Amino acid sequence: MAVSMSPRLALFRSWIGRVSTATLVVALFVTALAACVLGLMLWKGYDSRRIALAQNETGTRNLAQSLAEHATHTFQGADIVLDDIVAYIRLRPELNAGFNERLRALADHLPQLSDVAIVDAAGDVTHASVTPVPPLNNADRDYFRYHRDNPDQKLLITGPIASRTSGQSIFAVSRRLETADSRFAGVVVATIASDYFSDFYKTIDLGPGGSISLLHSDGRLLIQWPSLQSGRDMSKSVLFQHELRQSPDGFYLTVSPFDGLTKYLAYRQISRYPLVVTVARTKDSVLSGWREAVRSDIAVAAAMLTCVVLLAAILAAQLRRRQEVQHLLRERDAHYRLIDANMGDVIVLTDPGGIMRFVSMSVETVLGLKPEQLIGRSWTEMVHADDVPALQAVAVRLRKSPAGLCAEFRMRRTEGDQVWLEANFAYTRSDRGPGDCVVGTLRDVTQRKLMEQEVKALNARLAELARTDGLTGLPNRRSLDGFISRTATSASTMAVLMIDVDDFKGFNDYFGHQGGDDALRQLGNLFSSRVTGMHGFAARYGGEEFTIVLPDADAAAAMSFAESLRTAVRALAVRNPASAHGCLTVSIGFACGTAPFDSALLLREADIALYDAKRRGRDRCVAAEPAAFVADAGPLQPEQEQPSTASAS
Ligand code: GH3
Ligand code: MG
Ligand code: MG
Repeated sequence: MAVSMSPRLALFRSWIGRVSTATLVVALFVTALAACVLGLMLWKGYDSRRIALAQNETGTRNLAQSLAEHATHTFQGADIVLDDIVAYIRLRPELNAGFNERLRALADHLPQLSDVAIVDAAGDVTHASVTPVPPLNNADRDYFRYHRDNPDQKLLITGPIASRTSGQSIFAVSRRLETADSRFAGVVVATIASDYFSDFYKTIDLGPGGSISLLHSDGRLLIQWPSLQSGRDMSKSVLFQHELRQSPDGFYLTVSPFDGLTKYLAYRQISRYPLVVTVARTKDSVLSGWREAVRSDIAVAAAMLTCVVLLAAILAAQLRRRQEVQHLLRERDAHYRLIDANMGDVIVLTDPGGIMRFVSMSVETVLGLKPEQLIGRSWTEMVHADDVPALQAVAVRLRKSPAGLCAEFRMRRTEGDQVWLEANFAYTRSDRGPGDCVVGTLRDVTQRKLMEQEVKALNARLAELARTDGLTGLPNRRSLDGFISRTATSASTMAVLMIDVDDFKGFNDYFGHQGGDDALRQLGNLFSSRVTGMHGFAARYGGEEFTIVLPDADAAAAMSFAESLRTAVRALAVRNPASAHGCLTVSIGFACGTAPFDSALLLREADIALYDAKRRGRDRCVAAEPAAFVADAGPLQPEQEQPSTASAS
């Protein structure tokens, strides 16, 4: 059953398919980095928050401890003073007016004390540190009523109340006075201005919303800074209902009943006096520094991540580009390999020193060697020794030939044979990459070369045939003309002999043309062999006529040679029933000349001399010009068969 893919999944898959690997890698890297940074920030934020809270707790607790000590010392000072007065009065119940001075000195001595006064059993102020003694009756004051009604000797702290002399808010610290028989004799009271505490508390920076409270152990608020509230009953608060019952000092998070803010509160109960000190700092102010640090961390991290993302985007783009280029290069490389593998030509790249740096694969087909067997070797090792100088000359000229140069040379194959190569060389200059190099395109032209050689040989053979008589193998008339022309330019003298076979028609008639041909071949061989030693030239002039040219031969030499030739023919003893001599004979007419020669004239004169020889009876030699050494023997009689030589007359 076909499972259908949800369109959203299909969309995701197609998107993933389009995204390049480089982009995915970079995206994963950035995500991992972002996760690390986020994790680090969370951890750091959590840790710094924990440290900030711990530091706050320690600081607040310490401050509460210090303030408790401050309150203790403040009330202890008053306590000692009152104790001293009580002891004094017990010894001297009758006080005089000078006692006021003593009270003033005590009040002046302790800065926390505003006033010190003695109240008698009726509530009238009898002595005071202020002058004059105010005419006041404090019988309505709480402390008076307490001491009047309670015989204990302990220090009583009351307030805050408004001072009847200064009108400012004060705390009253009082002790009971008794007569010798322990009856109530009045109260000794010292006052401490609320400002004494608030002036001290305001020097302490607790941040926005921070507060310090001094409370009575019964829950009465003596003073709170900075609100300066007092007298409020706090006995129902968490502090009195829960915390103080657990421990005389502590630290907790609470919502302030004064301003409704969430605060960390440290408290300390003073052991000597019924007092409690609290120090509160708002959660916001406690954590403001931490929040600031976190904000700046987030800003730095965000800036860093933005930079990383930007760099990653650039990197991804570059990687993508690189991948595309690599893909393109692979594709191109594959094309080159395909071309290389299927190309007949060999591409060779050599450095300027002639060391092969690249050889295409096609070299294996051409030379039977793998490219790696050639790379690193000098091309001169492979080229036929005879062709190296020419190629070296090409290499020298190549630098100044921007269009490149062609050359043909031979190279050795692994099989030992050689191969003809036709090459196009180009010198390429490059500041980068492989540097200057020579690029050669080599093509195997061995077959063409062989064909050229064959054609050449064929042409030579044709030329040979064109110059040779097919029957006798002697040079023909065309060759004769060439030889005469060449001799005419080099020799000082030249003799031309025209030879005609006597009665050859009859020979043919008797022996047939085949027999005639054989005889002609025999004569050709004879003439050819006879001229070899003389540097002469024998040719078939046509039919049964032959011509011999003797360079540098004078008339005597020509005559001698002609005569020896005629004799040699007779010596062949070829039977010719048509001849009067019964054998094959020849008639020879010859002409001699000195440079400059008139070749045509020599031939014509020799021909005339030949006719003359025929006319005179055949089987004789006749010179074209009369010469003293040549005698005209006249026509020979068949029976005489005497050879003779004559000059044309
Ligand atoms: P002479 O020269 O002595 O006056 O008599 P001849 O019989 O030789 O006279 P002619 O020159 O008239 O005849 C030449 C003969 O040579 C005619 C021809 O049949 C023969 N001949 C010419 N060329 C060839 C050839 O190539 N082969 C053969 N077998 N005979 C040839
Ligand atoms: Mg003839
Ligand atoms: Mg003849």
